Amino acid sequence: MYIILLGAPGAGKGTQAAYVAQKLKVAHIATGDLFRQAIERGTELGRQAKYYMERGILSPDELTIQMVLERLSAPDSKSGVVFDGFPRNLKQAEALDGALAQQAKAIDRVVYIKVSEEELLRRLSGRLICRNCQMPYHATDSPPQVWGKCDKCGGELYQRPDDNVETVKKRLDVYFAETAPLISYYAKSEKLIEIDGEGSVAKVGEKVITALKKEVINK
Ligand code: AMP
Repeated sequence: MYIILLGAPGAGKGTQAAYVAQKLKVAHIATGDLFRQAIERGTELGRQAKYYMERGILSPDELTIQMVLERLSAPDSKSGVVFDGFPRNLKQAEALDGALAQQAKAIDRVVYIKVSEEELLRRLSGRLICRNCQMPYHATDSPPQVWGKCDKCGGELYQRPDDNVETVKKRLDVYFAETAPLISYYAKSEKLIEIDGEGSVAKVGEKVITALKKEVINK
């Protein structure tokens, strides 16, 4: 089962993707997390990704697509994947379709998590991420049990440097210009499921799973 979670920065893709991947027992591929891990490790990929991330713009397609294809060739991706933060433009969507087609596979469903711009800004300004496992939290909506520590792995929580007001605005502009057109791309192939993302994490998660069960699991 191959599923894409689509939505603006702050829509809750990371949280819901982790939940869906665990429920469906498939791999979770989050390109933003892969780039942040590369930055933490100080690799050449990380050095390049940092430049784009700091500016709130997309990394070059060649870099991103190659990284995703490598990750996709790992054994845990064979039975399915939840893609989070990828694809981000038409070129990436076509590259993904092509790579899956080579293995006689295809994207099953695209879950578009819709959230108002006002709510996106509120969420991003309170967002905290685990430095170790990338689990997202929110200072007031979903705080950790112990302040500053990840419930899952005990890692240190931090605010992403690109969650500052200026970079967030740029990231939203990039989203509306480059990524939002994918909504109609996937609607055309009748793969799109739209979910109202403005509720508690648990409520939205329930809606996502229910919709996927109806459309895919019982197919
Ligand atoms: P995210 O954690 O998904 O918000 O991504 C953080 C940053 O990583 C973005 O602002 C981009 O610089 C880069 N990035 C993540 N995913 C992609 C992608 N699919 N294509 C290009 N750049 C990406």
